[in-house]
Amino acid sequence: MTAPTLQSHIAGRWIGAEPAQTLRSAINGRAVAATHAERPDFAEACDHARRVGVPALARFDFQQRAALLKALAKHLMTRKEALYAISAHTGATRADSWIDVEGGIGTLFAYASAGSNELPSSNVLHEGPVLPLGKGGQFMGTHILVPRGGLAVHINAFNFPIWGLLEKFAPSFLAGLPCIGKPATATSYVTEALQREIVAAGILPEGALQLVIGSTGNLLDLLDGRDVVTFTGSAATAAKLRVHPNLIAHSVPFNAEADSLNCAILAPDVTPDDPEFDLYVKEVAREMTAKAGQKCTAIRRAIVPAHRVDAVVERLVARLAKTVVGDPAVEGVRMGALASHEQQADVRAAIARLAEEAEVAFGAGELALQGEGVAEGAFISPTLLVARDAARATRVHEVEAFGPVSTVIGYADEDEAVRLAERGRGSLVGSLVTKDSATAARLVPRLASLHGRILVLEREAAVESTGHGSPLPQLKHGGPGRAGGGEELGGIRAVKHLLQRTAVQGSPTMLAAVTGEYVRGAARIETEVHPFRRHFEDLRIGESLLTHRRTVTEADIVNFGGVSGDYFYMHFDDIAAKDTLFGQRIAHGYFVLSAAAGLFVSPGPGPVLANYGLDNLRFVKPVPIGTTIQARLTAKRKIDRMKVDEKGRGHGVVAWDVEVRDQDGDLVASYDILTLVAKRSA
Ligand code: NAP
Repeated sequence: MTAPTLQSHIAGRWIGAEPAQTLRSAINGRAVAATHAERPDFAEACDHARRVGVPALARFDFQQRAALLKALAKHLMTRKEALYAISAHTGATRADSWIDVEGGIGTLFAYASAGSNELPSSNVLHEGPVLPLGKGGQFMGTHILVPRGGLAVHINAFNFPIWGLLEKFAPSFLAGLPCIGKPATATSYVTEALQREIVAAGILPEGALQLVIGSTGNLLDLLDGRDVVTFTGSAATAAKLRVHPNLIAHSVPFNAEADSLNCAILAPDVTPDDPEFDLYVKEVAREMTAKAGQKCTAIRRAIVPAHRVDAVVERLVARLAKTVVGDPAVEGVRMGALASHEQQADVRAAIARLAEEAEVAFGAGELALQGEGVAEGAFISPTLLVARDAARATRVHEVEAFGPVSTVIGYADEDEAVRLAERGRGSLVGSLVTKDSATAARLVPRLASLHGRILVLEREAAVESTGHGSPLPQLKHGGPGRAGGGEELGGIRAVKHLLQRTAVQGSPTMLAAVTGEYVRGAARIETEVHPFRRHFEDLRIGESLLTHRRTVTEADIVNFGGVSGDYFYMHFDDIAAKDTLFGQRIAHGYFVLSAAAGLFVSPGPGPVLANYGLDNLRFVKPVPIGTTIQARLTAKRKIDRMKVDEKGRGHGVVAWDVEVRDQDGDLVASYDILTLVAKRSA
């Protein structure tokens, strides 16, 4: 049977029939698929993204796109076994593929949830605060983030054909950017299978995601300033693409995630009898063998105190010797193959270069492979090197063997450990294994300047640690210098990177209209109806209530002290209070807050279902006995998260601006309250 020809998915059509390059199974060398010879029309792809994708995505708001992402993630979970099956050709074990398949789908879920929790029901993300720019409060400034109106080209490395695309697609989709994904050719058959699942699901709007198999041709020449390019791969390719003339000419943002020589430092306080010593060895060994070391975050440099080098090497070798290598389909196999035969040749060459300056402690011997036909596979032994002369070793800080390869380097003192880490010239991640919090406090800030992420590992964190090598959707991924200088993931930060941030100036009324959020000083809407009596659909931003007044008495303070148990001297000790900043006894801030709620609440049952918190609370001015307070409540922001309760009743989130002022009109307390408000209909 001939291997299928992969197809690009451009402008809603599958393109490609003529086979070009054969892609071989990493396990047994048999042909798995072929790339196609036809050259996609990249002008058509860009045109489709701009003319069809951009408006199709703009028909949804941030919240609706988050809901679509969730639906897609749920669907892909039902199809995950098909993806695991095809992923096996890359030489991955089930655990390796889990990172790619379920890690990728999990990233969609994470972005769906972050979008739902943090983004508005519109396509304008307001990034406050609103700043007064004039003395009279009539001219202000703020920032908004909006979809760029262009497209995103995502170029990925071969090691995570699913996660690589999805972790870039998810924030782009939320940001309203149609995407053109370009997986690395070697494992593009896995990404093509993913794209087929996505297309068949029919969940995404037309033009949201196109796929290129093979070369990007003239694609980068067709981009302009509305577009973005993100790249994951080798530092050499990143360096080349970063200076692409058209990207420079049009200031097209280019985000790079490149290879890096990540380190793990064993701190001087850890002895071979400590659990941390074993944790260190386990982490290094795991990072060497997971995905056969083909992780951009893998530990390439194990930096340990010079007098511990032999102990670390001994335990690492004992561990690595137990790694069963072969076809992951065979029971007991713990490490599979490299993703391609080209990769195997590259890693062998890199080991040879490293070995010119370091001795091979493990991996030089014959490799006993498990499985049938594996002699033709792209296997390689876990390989541990030791650079005994740390001062003279240079290759270990320069050569990335993108496989199960790590080098142990000894250091004399902390300063040298930091200097060695820095010689990697910028890394995605570094680990520090220590049981001493003072050591962590000293070293982490020094290491942070050259790392995108730092894991501090000891017995307490180890119980739940997600490990050195796992980028998480909540935390930023990307490092300085050699690691590419880019940033991805990190929750909603990634979405913000892909939006256009614009400063907007104008009157409060104009800023409120533009941002979709009430801005103090903007026109308000006051009617006979209490805003708490409005259903979600009926409530308008700016609907406002000015309450009656209340004079704060000594009895209020005494009663509040009794109810809360808060007898702080500032409220109860006349003599001590005279010596304070305020010169007299003042009401509890929380009393002011509670009294304000009493002023603005509409007590009977109504559409306000719950008050679930408050934001931005400030007690601006003290409230002494005899102060008369008054509250203003104004609908500030509405978010329709499309949630319904178990009875099918819908509700939305409403944030209310609350100002509490005294008899002089001065602000005494200021905050937003967050409520759930019922809809008239589900
Ligand atoms: P690569 O050779 O740099 O290729 C990366 C991607 O760039 C591939 O899709 C490749 O396509 C494409 N590409 C190459 N030349 C191009 C050009 N002139 N124009 C447009 N696209 C081009 O890297 P790789 O071998 O696939 O991946 C391994 C490397 O990636 C390792 O060094 C690893 O450390 C790094 N990596 C980094 C991260 C991270 O997050 N920082 C993650 C994973 C991997 P073709 O395959 O078709 O050539």
